[in-house]
Amino acid sequence: MPELYHQTIAQLSAALEAGSLTSVALMQAVIERTEAVEPQVKAFIHRDAEDALQQAHASDERRASGNSLGPLDGIPIGIKDILAVKGQPLRCASKMLDNFVSPYDATVIAQLKAAGAVLWGRLNMDEFAMGSSTENSAYMATANPWDLDRIPGGSSGGSAAAIAAGQAIATIGTDTGGSIRQPAALCGVVGMKPTYGLVSRYGLVAFASSLDQAGPMTRTVEDAALLLQTMLGKDPLDSTSIAMPKVPDFRAELKHRKGPWKLGVPREFFGDGIDPEVKANIEAAIEWYRAQGSEIVDISLPHAHLSVPVYYIVATAEASSNLARFDGVRYGHRSVAVEDALSLFTQSRGEGFGDEVKRRIILGTYVLSSGYYDAYYLRAQKVRTLIRRDFENAFETVDAILSPTSPTPAFKRGERSNDPLAMYLSDIYTIAVNLAGLPALSLPSGFTSNGLPIGLQVIGKAFGEADLFAVAQAYEQAHNFHLVTAEL
Ligand code: GLN
Repeated sequence: MPELYHQTIAQLSAALEAGSLTSVALMQAVIERTEAVEPQVKAFIHRDAEDALQQAHASDERRASGNSLGPLDGIPIGIKDILAVKGQPLRCASKMLDNFVSPYDATVIAQLKAAGAVLWGRLNMDEFAMGSSTENSAYMATANPWDLDRIPGGSSGGSAAAIAAGQAIATIGTDTGGSIRQPAALCGVVGMKPTYGLVSRYGLVAFASSLDQAGPMTRTVEDAALLLQTMLGKDPLDSTSIAMPKVPDFRAELKHRKGPWKLGVPREFFGDGIDPEVKANIEAAIEWYRAQGSEIVDISLPHAHLSVPVYYIVATAEASSNLARFDGVRYGHRSVAVEDALSLFTQSRGEGFGDEVKRRIILGTYVLSSGYYDAYYLRAQKVRTLIRRDFENAFETVDAILSPTSPTPAFKRGERSNDPLAMYLSDIYTIAVNLAGLPALSLPSGFTSNGLPIGLQVIGKAFGEADLFAVAQAYEQAHNFHLVTAEL
């Protein structure tokens, strides 16, 4: 058996249920591990061991009195610093929110609490979720546990690194253009972005509201299924959340959906810019599915190559509007060096936001301004529709789509930080999924010759999470890459 801190939710909850483990003992092990490796990994912006132990103790008491809240009861789960947890700091890794403490729980957090999860720490990220390397955090850069000189991916880099390093059993990330899947791929864990609307965005600090979704980051597909089960549902506090007519029991469904499947491979995702080792690895994964009896269908997503430019118009436009609320008056950083109302706004925003956030606010304001709106924003929205239709066409013939998650394995810290366009291309295979609102998951598919994790992306139909999990788990159970752990 691996160390407690490297086990899965499924394993640990079985032990908790059987009485061979207490949540307090588990939390102790995770805290000790965190203290040992955190100086190298730097996954946490904030953590409160005493509070986590109290939650664990409460869980043990529930269990002892026969009132367990289910499989998540007593499991330590780390939270990306963008989801509101009542009474805890909520900084979005920004100086803008340095002293902000959340007065309420996000709906996702309320759901996790109702399931008995032990909320453990605030995980580092790119400021306001803008980035692909976690280097845009105003606090520190998180390291990739597989190679400490490399980035963990982003923006949910802390959430991915914490699992890979054994500092949390599972975590919650958010994904606007790839921020759950890309760091999951680069850190060798599972990361799942649900169908847009499946999970409430209430209490998730908005970056681009038409794209943002919170989702599970875990060691295994089964754990992701377990975690997602508690996070979904129609929420009166988020008008874009959707009630599924009947929510399947994702974990139970895994037993019934065994394939074979019809799996699409978009030829556009294997062209220029992909690392040869990543390409070979994903091609081998596709061949494995074929050998198992699945039919591999060559598909085309003819507008996918426009997804990065479209995303950087749509996402920045929405960000410029969403981030207008940080004005130094209502909340957030307030400059002291002010002379009048205007300088209060400009100074506070100038001091509070980092470079990448400013770049996006400027770009987003530009594409929304009169005279440019039609040329950029409106046109991008039209291409977004074409991208969505490409997927709809493909899903008329296939059950799921396979692709790489990231074109390259984890890169060195600093390598792309002065080249925003190179950084933006990190999400070339993940962004179209957000524009189309579809669910997708990244799972470990092996390693490069120098030991860096590679991720396979599985894209599903809207609300096709149950099939998505099944397709991914088939590969996972045959390869067991999740059992290989980073040496720290
Ligand atoms: N890397 C992309 C960006 O910088 C996606 C980020 C995200 O999904 N939050 O916008």
